[in-house]
Amino acid sequence: MTERGTVCLTFDFDAISLWAARGMTSPGPVSRGEFGAFAIPRILQLLDTYGIASTFFIPGHTLETYSAQCRAIHEAGHEIALHGYLHEPVSTLERETERAVLQRASALIEDLTGTPPAGHRTPSFDFTAHTVELLQEAGIEYDSSLMGTDCVPYLARTGDRHDPDGPYVFGPASQIVELPVSWTLDDYPHLEFVRTGTTVMPGLQDPHQMFARFLGDVRYMIRHTEGGVLTVTLHPQVIGRGDRMLALEEFIIGCLDLGVVLERCLEVGRRCRTQLETARQQPGKPA
Ligand SMILES: [Zn+2]
Repeated sequence: MTERGTVCLTFDFDAISLWAARGMTSPGPVSRGEFGAFAIPRILQLLDTYGIASTFFIPGHTLETYSAQCRAIHEAGHEIALHGYLHEPVSTLERETERAVLQRASALIEDLTGTPPAGHRTPSFDFTAHTVELLQEAGIEYDSSLMGTDCVPYLARTGDRHDPDGPYVFGPASQIVELPVSWTLDDYPHLEFVRTGTTVMPGLQDPHQMFARFLGDVRYMIRHTEGGVLTVTLHPQVIGRGDRMLALEEFIIGCLDLGVVLERCLEVGRRCRTQLETARQQPGKPA
């Protein structure tokens, strides 16, 4: 950690699960997912060139379908964290299904790495009313799915209540550290072209401009937040193409030039948990 802050460069290795979860299993969408696996070696090579350790959030379906690529990610020193089994949109899951998905995906990660996962990101960046409780039960240390702050990690809450006829009621903080994300720091909506029925997500923006905006957020963090943490979400099937890889390399160089540290979520989450727990125990400080 430096006073100038930390960037967590994270990769959601969704591969085919992203499309299968939407019922899109014909060869076209499947091949879009396949490209994610094809791009893994070049992403690993880029990270190795700059000595960067990253976190890969990987659905169980990808762990089983592309076990060689996932093993290569682990053996290169990157962290593997939870991201559902078949990229399930978590908001649609019943409590017991959500728990079963967590258990199934956790077992697959432990089979590969020899260690239970410490981190979690929901597909679709949402929680149910049970998610935090289930994560605590599963021994998860940090999550990276919510957007309550930008570069200030916080403790996720349990037991929030929405009163349709009054103010929102915030539940107590849990022990799960939230490393916040944002669609503004996610390559998918910026770059990916998706047409489903009559809905079109245009994507296909200039990746150099996208990363220039990401770097603007890094500069703002350095200026305004001591020891901040900014989490960037990338997808191998999106970022792994030629010009986008060049733009990613420029972003990495830009971060290093600004003096921020690029770290795995695991180390950042553990450090933040200690800091947040200490702050919680000091009287007069908000949890
Ligand atoms: Zn995903």
